[in-house]
Amino acid sequence: MKVIKFGGTSVGSTKGLKQVRQIVESINEPVIVVVSAFSGITDKLIKTSNLASIGDKAYQEVYEEMVITHKNIIEELFEDTKSRELLIDNVSQLLNELNDIFQGIFLIKDLSPKTLDTVLSYGERISSKVVTQLIEGAQRFDSRSFIKTEKKHAKNFIDKDLTTRLIRDTFNPLPKIGVVPGFISSDKQTGDVTNLGRGGSDYTAAMIAAALDANCLEIWTDVDGFMTADPHVINSAYTIEELSYVEATELCNFGAKVIYPPTIYPVFHKNIPIRVRNTFNLESKGTVIKQDITGSKSHKAIKGI
Ligand code: ADP
Ligand code: ASP
Ligand code: MG
Repeated sequence: MKVIKFGGTSVGSTKGLKQVRQIVESINEPVIVVVSAFSGITDKLIKTSNLASIGDKAYQEVYEEMVITHKNIIEELFEDTKSRELLIDNVSQLLNELNDIFQGIFLIKDLSPKTLDTVLSYGERISSKVVTQLIEGAQRFDSRSFIKTEKKHAKNFIDKDLTTRLIRDTFNPLPKIGVVPGFISSDKQTGDVTNLGRGGSDYTAAMIAAALDANCLEIWTDVDGFMTADPHVINSAYTIEELSYVEATELCNFGAKVIYPPTIYPVFHKNIPIRVRNTFNLESKGTVIKQDITGSKSHKAIKGI
């Protein structure tokens, strides 16, 4: 089996979502698909919360933008009226809940960390419903029930042993195609919704891959793999064919946001390779991150800046 993760850059548009469907439907082994919120939604959830918390009515406009983004994507993606209406009802229910929460924040002008975490969970909760409906035979699993965090010094950390056990229970038997919202989790004591930090969907996917002894973890994004620098900043950046776990960890820690740094350790520990692929360019082989890298031409002393 393998675990594949699609970031916001892949699921932020109808074009990207059609690619996601094509990629998943071409896989001939059990697969767990981890998805981020649609592109830009997590930023907007934060912006809306902040505006509401200072009593600025402009929060309503940003909220409406999010409603329109979701509804447009659903309208464009689903031709069958029945499944479209069903999904719109389902998603509208979540968006209405979200509106009630924003109204509450606006009225009392207060935004606690717990409330913000609740708000942030809606991005992935909604995107995972859309992706499940999009892929024939897919079954959705809620990561809040198996990715468990504990609070230490006011920060949330994954309880790795508990999470590993719960992942194994949840995916036994293994579904043919499972869809999981990335990023979100819940507190192991209170059950309150928490999250793994910005970019955390990569980490969700890595925890699942490690717990289930996947043969591969694939991170699908909008560039041709792990590159020598951010290609959106440095035009001449090129794809690195192979990286060791240690090299990749260093580059991530120094700001290569293509992979969220905590992602590497769980799969490194199990010697599971990570492939970084471009959702919009299936021709490109991307990058493989693994233990022993061969002396290929990309094996140079300096891998990236
Ligand atoms: P996703 O939504 O798929 O998680 P991210 O925005 O988190 O996407 O990460 C992909 C982005 O990371 C790329 O679009 C690119 O701009 C940026 N990036 C920064 N450094 C690198 C690097 N060394 N190689 C590839 N991409 C990089
Ligand atoms: N949606 C979250 C974020 O934007 C998590 C992720 O995309 O990995 O940070
Ligand atoms: Mg990311």
